[in-house]
Amino acid sequence: MRVSPAQTTPELKPCPNCGKQAGELKKSELGSRFPYYVKCNACGWATDMVRLAGIAVKLWNEAKVPKAAKAKR
Ligand SMILES: [Zn+2]
Repeated sequence: MRVSPAQTTPELKPCPNCGKQAGELKKSELGSRFPYYVKCNACGWATDMVRLAGIAVKLWNEAKVPKAAKAKR
């Protein structure tokens, strides 16, 4: 498991959609009441937007994406 000493955000598991360690906690700058979400920098999958950063991380870590839901090309 990768550990970064400078990491300030809660630990994110690998992307539930593509399996890469590419999730990033984001905060919308739109002044939304639900500004936090986690988005995968590899495949673009993202959680719902929620009010608290910790909830977004929890959604990400507990997300289960069916393989059938993957975009087909
Ligand atoms: Zn991904």
